[in-house]
Amino acid sequence: MFDVVIRGGSAPDIAIEGEFIAAVGHDLPAGEREIDATKLAILPGVIDAHVHFNEPGRADWEGADTGSRALAAGGGTLFVDMPLNSAPCTVNAQHFDAKRAALEAVSLTDFALWGGIVPGNLDDMEDLAERGVIGFKAFMCDSGLPEFPRADDATLYLGMVEAARLNLPVAVHAESEEITKRLARQLIAEGRCDIPAFLESRPVAAEVEAIERAGAFAREAGCRLHVVHISSGSGVAAALEARRLGTDISIETCPHYLFFSEDDLLRIGAIAKCAPPLRNDNERETLRHAARHGEIDIIGSDHSPCPPEMKDRASFFEIWGGIAGVQSTIPALLEIGLTPERIAATTATNPARRFNLKNRGALEPGNYADITLVDVSATTQIGKATMLHRHRTSPYEGYTLQGAVRQTIRRGETIYSDGAITSQSRGRFVHA
Ligand SMILES: [Zn+2]
Repeated sequence: MFDVVIRGGSAPDIAIEGEFIAAVGHDLPAGEREIDATKLAILPGVIDAHVHFNEPGRADWEGADTGSRALAAGGGTLFVDMPLNSAPCTVNAQHFDAKRAALEAVSLTDFALWGGIVPGNLDDMEDLAERGVIGFKAFMCDSGLPEFPRADDATLYLGMVEAARLNLPVAVHAESEEITKRLARQLIAEGRCDIPAFLESRPVAAEVEAIERAGAFAREAGCRLHVVHISSGSGVAAALEARRLGTDISIETCPHYLFFSEDDLLRIGAIAKCAPPLRNDNERETLRHAARHGEIDIIGSDHSPCPPEMKDRASFFEIWGGIAGVQSTIPALLEIGLTPERIAATTATNPARRFNLKNRGALEPGNYADITLVDVSATTQIGKATMLHRHRTSPYEGYTLQGAVRQTIRRGETIYSDGAITSQSRGRFVHA
C-alpha cells in the first residue's frame, strides 16, 4: 500500500512512498492516506530560483525561517538564494559554508545556493563549484551593496570563461552601469529625485544593451548565460536574438514585471520599487505575450524585502529597491492568464533542468514528491493577516488574485495546508 495517494480527477493520481513519487496514473490502488485533489490543479512544487533571504547577517530584512515559510505558503518547496544580501556575501568557500549552515538551521523548504562573481574572486569560483553552487551571479550595474561590487566587463568575461570551465551558468543582472549611473547623477544634480526621475534613469535601452553585451561575452566564453529579471518585452527580444546568434541563454522574469506597470509604481510608491524598474504598458504587454507563448524560460520572485524604514527616504533614489513576492507567485501568474501548465514549466520544470536540480521539477516516478495543490477557481486576497514573510508589506496588498494554494508537499511531507504551516522539520541543502 502506498503511503499517500493524491486523487486527481481528470489528471492522473500520484502515489507517494517516503520522500518520492512512486507512481503516476489513473485509478492507482489505495494509499494509507488519501488526498482528494479531484477539483484541484496538481503542480510540481515551486522552485524559486531567485530570492534574497539575506541570512546570515541581514535576517532582520527577511531570514530563511520566515522566507521559507512564506515560500511554502505560496506553493514552494525549494528556493535558490542569491549571493547577496547576506552578510557576508557568498563569494568564497568560507562565506558559502556560513550561509549553508545558517540556512540548514532554520529553513523549512529545501534550498540551493548561487555563488557570486565580483572583482577579485575569480580564484574562489572553483571552491564554490566544488561546494555545489548552481551557478554564479554577477551585477553589470551597481548592486546597491558596497560589499558586492559590480563586475566590470573584464571581470564578467573572465568569470564566464571560468564558469564555462567549471560547467556552471552565469546569471547577470543586466543593466548598463554607464547609462544608469550617468543619468541618475545628472537627474539628481538637477534636483530631481522623484519616481519619474528614477524611471528616467533606468531606460529599457540600459537593459537591452547589457543583455546584448552579456550575450556576446557568453558566446565567446562558451558559457551558459542566465539573464535574471528581464523587465521588458524589448529585453526578451534582445535575449532571443542572442540565442539566435548562438548564445546558450535562459530568460527569467518576475511576476511583478508581468503584473504591474510604471503607472502602478507612481501610485503605490516605494514598496513597488525594484531595479530594473516596472515598465510602461507596451513593454509589459509584450513581456506578457512572451510569457504566454513560452518565450520566458523561468519565473522567479526576486523576493528582496528590507526593513520598512529603508523604504522611507526623501529621495526615491535612496530607497531600497526590492519587492516582497515570494508568497504570491502562483496567484499573480494565474491572474494575468498563465495556464497551470505554463506555471509548472516556468516555476519548476525549467529551473530544475537549467540548474541541474536532480529528481525535481516534474511529477514523475522517481522524483522527489515536491507537489503543490492549487484551487484554480478560488481566489486569494492579499493582506497582511496571511503574509508569512518578516515585513508584512507587498505591492499586491489589497488585490484579490485568481487561484489559491491549498497544500504544499515537500519530499512527501505536507508542510503547508489551508493557511497554516504544518511541519517543524528542516529543509535540506541541494547541490547542483
Ligand atoms: Zn535579485
